[in-house]
Amino acid sequence: MAGLYVHIPFCKQACHYCDFHFSTDISTRLEMCKALVSELVLQKDYLAEEITTIYLGGGTPSLLNRAELDILFSSIRTQFTLAPQTEITLEANPDDLTKEKLEEIRASGINRLSIGIQSFNDNLLKYLNRAHDAQGARRCLETVREAGFNNISIDLIYAIPGLTQKIWKETLQEALSFLPEHISSYGLTIEERTVFGNWSKRGKLHPVDEENSAQQFELLMAILSHSGYEHYEISNFCKPGFHSRHNSSYWKQSRYLGIGPSAHSYNGDSRQFNIRNNASYIRSINEGIVPFEREVLTRENKINEYILTTLRTDWGCDLSFLKLHLEDDLLHRCGDNLSLLQQKGLLTIGNGILLLSRKGKLLADKIAEDLMVSV
Ligand code: SF4
Repeated sequence: MAGLYVHIPFCKQACHYCDFHFSTDISTRLEMCKALVSELVLQKDYLAEEITTIYLGGGTPSLLNRAELDILFSSIRTQFTLAPQTEITLEANPDDLTKEKLEEIRASGINRLSIGIQSFNDNLLKYLNRAHDAQGARRCLETVREAGFNNISIDLIYAIPGLTQKIWKETLQEALSFLPEHISSYGLTIEERTVFGNWSKRGKLHPVDEENSAQQFELLMAILSHSGYEHYEISNFCKPGFHSRHNSSYWKQSRYLGIGPSAHSYNGDSRQFNIRNNASYIRSINEGIVPFEREVLTRENKINEYILTTLRTDWGCDLSFLKLHLEDDLLHRCGDNLSLLQQKGLLTIGNGILLLSRKGKLLADKIAEDLMVSV
């Protein structure tokens, strides 16, 4: 079981909060697609297993046209063995998803869409500098259903300055009216190298305080669980059977190969990070060299990654896995801390599995940090 991630590093415009790697200069799109194909060839032996999930992320993969999608998928199918019923996800922005584009997407074998809706409120969409408006978001979701996609995920952002509990509730209700199979929802974080980061430094933006952010997260959990969604990872909710298999494989420590500028790969013992620059990436790939840095994971790194990722999930942190595979006796190492967390109602331990309570999910990163080993 292994995953393949392909990074498409182009966007029509820069959202004010976004720290992902992308360029708004889309003139090198075809050149980039050819470089991605070359990297697929160069990296074809990285994964020994068959591919069970493919994820086209970015950037904005929905900018790709039929010919570009064809080039990529024909190379993927040549270089790798795909499992039957491979989950193939494309990240998409609402303004790209016309009826014609959706037909092209379907024809290339993509069977899951992750759509960057973010909000149904025009003022907030403008504030975030999204390329679509609320009406565009609604139209897109209707068109996607008409085109026959039956596995869609909607991204929504909370903790945006100006997002009240009332607007957030309306946003969630409107999202639910489209019956999405999956919802990913993240609290806005202000990243340094973004417009919001700059505004924040100059005092033009005041991040939402922790209490308000927590209230919006609680509302999210309450409304989605009431509507039959499983909260299977801190920021991810799904109808039964519709969890993101690709993202889950990251949290289950499966191997994956990342293709494209800024993409990461993981083979169980090390992580590789491709360079975050389109021109340098293309130049290096054209010389037959994948431009990456490698980090070899120590036992301590592996323990910490395991605790951090699994505590965020509904399958939890398996104490026997830690003992057996990483020689870490967490119960012994952090016994007092774990008892305290249990007494406070932040986590439970049953059958050797640590699980965060609803209250604990609000403090997930802090709790995980306290259980980590020092490196
Ligand atoms: S949020 Fe998505 S669409 Fe916006 S700039 Fe980032 S990658 Fe591009």
